[in-house]
Amino acid sequence: MNDEKILLVTGGSRGIGAAAARAAGREGYRVIVNYVSDEKSAQQVVSDIEKAGGRADAVQADVGQEKDILRLFKTIAKQYGRLTHLVNNAGIIGRAGPLADADPAMMRAVIDVNVTGAILVAREAVKQMSTARGGKGGAIVNLSSMAAILGAPGEYTWYAASKGAIDSFTIGLSREVAKEGVRVNAVSPGLIETDIHAAGGQPDRLERLAHLTPIGRAGKAEEVAAAILWLLSDDASYVTGSNLRVSGGR
Ligand code: NAP
Repeated sequence: MNDEKILLVTGGSRGIGAAAARAAGREGYRVIVNYVSDEKSAQQVVSDIEKAGGRADAVQADVGQEKDILRLFKTIAKQYGRLTHLVNNAGIIGRAGPLADADPAMMRAVIDVNVTGAILVAREAVKQMSTARGGKGGAIVNLSSMAAILGAPGEYTWYAASKGAIDSFTIGLSREVAKEGVRVNAVSPGLIETDIHAAGGQPDRLERLAHLTPIGRAGKAEEVAAAILWLLSDDASYVTGSNLRVSGGR
């Protein structure tokens, strides 16, 4: 099929990525659900998409590893043809705490996944999408965070810095490939109900902070997914280089 929409969601096994993958499945995208270690959750997302009448596959790859990214894109090219859409979502925060107490290896891992990984994934995607390189064009949505603006003091400044990098990268890449049929946008979620807070050692984070948001509650992964799906879609055909806050006014 020539007009097939082929979407890669990095970190599509849980949280925001899983919600975006499920929504995309319903919208007729053929979805590649990437995960790093939670195969069961990835297979569950695939099965949910298939049960709803869509098509999906799970592919393991650590986006913190260049060789894994290259293998992932090789698999995509071989099995599905050229990628047309990307949700550049996989991300980690490390262990919450003040910078002075932070483990350098932990912070390096965050930068490896959130910055280097996201940039290398986008690089491979652009090579497949760009009309200047034989592609059909496409759309990329990078997952940033309100932390890029708020700075996450006392929690994870290195993570905030990693998302600041994503904001700059989104602007630059969007302008670089705008004439090559590729739109590049970012979504900046606020406090969203996913496993990421517990992974950072703060399982009660949303309970403590959600009521402080102007809207008075934490957001759901599905509410972020809706914004992502709009930016991927042709309804956003004149939108590139933008950064959409999905943060309840935070
Ligand atoms: P999550 O629930 O913790 O899920 C993380 C996902 O990323 C999982 O699918 C995980 O795969 C995958 N992943 C982690 N490291 C990976 C790696 N090295 N390679 C490939 N996949 C990897 O996270 P989330 O809250 O949905 O966050 C998704 C994105 O939104 C992140 O970029 C995050 O920074 C951003 N964000 C989240 C919030 C929030 O409040 N939740 C706010 C702002 C921004 P496995 O299942 O295999 O572990």
